[in-house]
Amino acid sequence: MRRWIKRVIGAPGSASFQSFRRIVVAANGRRQWADDLDDAELSRAAREVLLSPGGAVAFEPTADMLAVLRTAARRALGQEPFDEQLLVTCALAAGNAVEMETGEGKTLAGALAAAALAVAGHRVHVLSVNDYLAERDAAWMQPLFELLDIGVGWVGQHTPPSTRADAYECDVVYAPVSEVGYDVLRDRFVTSDADRVRPVLDVAIVDEADAVMIDEAMSPLVLAGTSMETPEDFALADALVEELAADMHYAIDADHATVSLTDAGLDLLENRLGGVNLYDTAHTGTLTRINLALHARVLVHRDIDYLVIDDTIKLINTARGRIAHQQRWPDGLHAAVEAKERLPVSSPGIVLDTLTVQDLLRRYTTLAGMSGTVVAVAEELAEFYSLRSGRVERRLLSQRVDIPQRIFIEDQARMDAVKAEIRRRHLEGQPVLVGTQSVAQSEQFEAALAETGIAAQVLNARNDAHEAAVIAEAGGYGAVTISTQMSGRGTDIRLGGPDERDHQRVAAVGGLAVLQIGRYPSGRLDAQLRGRSGRQGDSGTTLTFVATTDELVQANAPAHLLEKIRRRGSQLDQVTLGSIVDQAQRIAESIRRDRHRDTWDFNRAISRQRDTVLVSRDETMNGDRAILEITRRIPEAFDRLASASSPSVVARLARDVALWCLDEQWCDHLAHLTEIRDGIHLQALAGVNPRDEFHRIALREFRGFFTSAYDRAADIVGDVTPAQLGQEITVLGLRRPSATWTYMTSDNPLGSPMDRAARAAGKWMRTRVYRIE
Ligand code: ADP
Ligand code: MG
Repeated sequence: MRRWIKRVIGAPGSASFQSFRRIVVAANGRRQWADDLDDAELSRAAREVLLSPGGAVAFEPTADMLAVLRTAARRALGQEPFDEQLLVTCALAAGNAVEMETGEGKTLAGALAAAALAVAGHRVHVLSVNDYLAERDAAWMQPLFELLDIGVGWVGQHTPPSTRADAYECDVVYAPVSEVGYDVLRDRFVTSDADRVRPVLDVAIVDEADAVMIDEAMSPLVLAGTSMETPEDFALADALVEELAADMHYAIDADHATVSLTDAGLDLLENRLGGVNLYDTAHTGTLTRINLALHARVLVHRDIDYLVIDDTIKLINTARGRIAHQQRWPDGLHAAVEAKERLPVSSPGIVLDTLTVQDLLRRYTTLAGMSGTVVAVAEELAEFYSLRSGRVERRLLSQRVDIPQRIFIEDQARMDAVKAEIRRRHLEGQPVLVGTQSVAQSEQFEAALAETGIAAQVLNARNDAHEAAVIAEAGGYGAVTISTQMSGRGTDIRLGGPDERDHQRVAAVGGLAVLQIGRYPSGRLDAQLRGRSGRQGDSGTTLTFVATTDELVQANAPAHLLEKIRRRGSQLDQVTLGSIVDQAQRIAESIRRDRHRDTWDFNRAISRQRDTVLVSRDETMNGDRAILEITRRIPEAFDRLASASSPSVVARLARDVALWCLDEQWCDHLAHLTEIRDGIHLQALAGVNPRDEFHRIALREFRGFFTSAYDRAADIVGDVTPAQLGQEITVLGLRRPSATWTYMTSDNPLGSPMDRAARAAGKWMRTRVYRIE
């Protein structure tokens, strides 16, 4: 949209919080009134003054309400919320996405909104990106909730089920978004209502909203269970692949997303295998394993994509630069990487159910979000969550200076420049935070600095609590801290250390300097890193050092521009180079946007079918659906069994068997749909719209789902002997998974075939589009 139009009607999805300013001003006039209330009166007042249902919005706090909240915060926490924070509180309570810079105090503003909504009778989840932040924020804000008689709890990875159920009874629950998702998934698989932990999806206030709602929106949360299958053996495939030489036996495509065998490579392998034809259908399995082993060796890198800890593979979430706990690559690849590292190959397990973060969040009645970078994704938040976004300005003007990016042709030249810059600033006592792209790169910089006698703290995918402690020290006099992308997110970096002991001294040498190495795949992530400097009116500087060899540039810049760099590199001026880098980032952003849209579209069909199955499952578990379906099919067998024991025993059997059949059938259906989805790109080559085709096939495959599930249940029940009655269904050979586990599949770093096709096409098209501009 043209700029002037935007100014007149507002950017798509944007909201103005101007009307809330009036309430905040009025609240200032009620300060004395609130201050004069004692604690009990304050809590009572909170419940009496709220009754002003705001028209179209979820909830609009009154001036009296804000006055009560302000007084309560000061009394309970020793922090008096600023007007800007109260503005954020109003915007959140009304169900908006709010942008407020890092360090301006979103935790408190979010807690006040949660309190306002809780006294209004809502159940509120404050969702964070990790356990550490959920626990920290719940503990930090607890006195505020207690003062107002609001129950508060928190849930983390290690919270046992019974405690979870209690926590979800609280008015306000702090939890990582993934944990709530896993609980929703596990609740879907219980065989008795009493086993549910029941998170109530009423209001969600999402912290770091863009990271959760956009960057991770499509990562499926997965519930998996033990299977009887034996893991595939990749040892042979891995040994074969180890012999292959780059360029001769295999070729890597330009954007480092795929690797394929050359004819020479195939010849060599076929020879090694005793002269077989690998393209013969008899060897499909072997060829697949070889391809996966090749992927694992060539495209998946230790310390960049994963770490090896305690003999297991720990994936690094590339969007956050931290360990993605309990994540796996799609089965074959995971086993192939394990083989490459000579680790025991883990059992694949079966996927019982999945839920994307976006699907989970859309199940809340009311959503609100906060982050330092929201407005840039306003359009997507409107499209996917019907959320409006707006910004609340800083309380104090930022003193931060952002120095324009410098671009180097060679990695080494950049390294030298970065080292010199750090050294110069470090000698003056200025704290320096270096933001790198990967664990390997962070270690490379650490080593390079050590050579010049500078000891740096390195922060990379290890653990959240430790990260928080290290990052909190990053503002200390003369500190040098090297981090990967978003490590330590949510933790405040105070000048002069956590206690601000040296604040004056550090401010005098310019505050925190942030040095960014390479650009991130989106402008928002760049802004997040820069935002670590210049908090609450502090001074600070940011510098960005890009090399044209960076992955972002190489993978996304149009081919003709990469060629231009290759041929004329050092003669190109900074402006030209800068525009190439900016363009590469824009392309990366739009690829992500398209992918979000596509994935969501595929996902929606599956999600709707799941909902239908769950309704039926509930009728089976808690109602008489199973008996009705089964007696209708096998009336005589049913009577025979009932007279051998009692109708209630048979009813119980029918119910358990039907539940087993529904769950089993859902797993199969899900696996089937996933396979179809991954293969659908081939249809695109045949000129069919893959989404339409997928929706058509998904519908077709779902037809008869219930008929066949209950048919099967009736068959099983029909074969039951009187002696088997009254026992567990395991005597019938029906086993439920003996253990389940959960994980979040990060986007396959290599992309599914569909992603790759979309990526190639997207890149090509955008190359044209950007050329015209
Ligand atoms: P954000 O999430 O916006 O980055 P935080 O909620 O982590 O910011 O808060 C940043 C820092 O500001 C914290 O150290 C917090 O104690 C402090 N802070 C927040 N609100 C206030 C306030 N009203 N008065 C004083 N300090 C505050
Ligand atoms: Mg925060």
